Amino acid sequence: MGLTEPPYIIPVFLPYLGCPGRCIYCAVDRVCLDPVKPQEIEDYVKRWVKFFRYTERRIEIGFYGGTFTNIPFELMNSYLTSAGRLIERGIIDGVRVSTRPDYIDRDTLEYLKKNHVKVMEIGVESFDDDVLMKSGRNYDSQTAFEGCEMVKMCGIELGIHLMVGLPGDDVERDMETAKKVIELRPETVRIHPTLVLRNTKLEEMFRMEHYQPLSLDCAVDIVSEMFIGFKGHGIETTRMGFFIPNDKSHEIVAGPHHPSFGNLVEYRAFGKILRWISSRYENFTVVLSRKRMDLLNGYGGKNRRLLSNLPGKLEIVDDDEIVFILDDIPMDYEVVMKKYFKERHPFSGSERYDRGGNMR
Ligand code: SF4
Repeated sequence: MGLTEPPYIIPVFLPYLGCPGRCIYCAVDRVCLDPVKPQEIEDYVKRWVKFFRYTERRIEIGFYGGTFTNIPFELMNSYLTSAGRLIERGIIDGVRVSTRPDYIDRDTLEYLKKNHVKVMEIGVESFDDDVLMKSGRNYDSQTAFEGCEMVKMCGIELGIHLMVGLPGDDVERDMETAKKVIELRPETVRIHPTLVLRNTKLEEMFRMEHYQPLSLDCAVDIVSEMFIGFKGHGIETTRMGFFIPNDKSHEIVAGPHHPSFGNLVEYRAFGKILRWISSRYENFTVVLSRKRMDLLNGYGGKNRRLLSNLPGKLEIVDDDEIVFILDDIPMDYEVVMKKYFKERHPFSGSERYDRGGNMR
């Protein structure tokens, strides 16, 4: 099975299962696919697998939409046993689960690890205590940090889920959250802008004018800074933006929803890097993969016009990479992103060394 390509993920939604309460913004039962029982997993997975085009890619089941580590043990075991049978028969390759950082303990982690769980996605949402409190998450940033560390120490891949635009949030808090994430070095991150969904506490707050969602432009701007920081530090951002099927879009009351939110972010990030480079280097060349011409031509070609007004040159290549030649020195996109992020959002110095032993 292909190891470098991202796996196909078959989502199995377990709305609110194991959740200690309902978070103010959450309407997972209204915007996701229908729940699946343990005995239905096999048929459900087979239906999905039929549509996968690249048969060499890994396939994983993701148990999402609840607090998997807090569901009754018998039920958890039933789901993992059903998944285990599919692994034994070579139909899928692994399991990922989502949970909250305050419902993680070593015994459960060991049990999950022995039962095919390869990745845990932790719904941290923010590392800011005030944002967590105003969003009714009922844990603090220390608990969130420790929960993530426990997952890493247990040898399970860590995915962190973040939200921007929660009550009490602002761009500075989001950047501090991003720095904490960089310190933790998860394998992956997902970022959702907060949406006001029907029948939530947040909808009430919005209607009473106690909550104002981010504009689309502002959400794209904030997430693009985070994306630059993560990519620059080797952390893959696997999703940006909330996936809501078209037939459920009426559940969105307000907020920065866009079906191509992730593309908007990548595009904005590339434009920021172009501007940053041109303010520091007199001579530069952008060596751009033919496959990534969307970074120049997308959304009306704003970045192409920007580049044509800058002193830099453009070279289009067939390779996959994006490289900048800055005063005759080639530099990968990721390296430039790291420099950009560190300059704009300096680490305070209290952060620890990264896991590779390098001082950030
Ligand atoms: S813990 Fe997650 S799934 Fe459960 S209510 Fe909160 S946001 Fe929704």
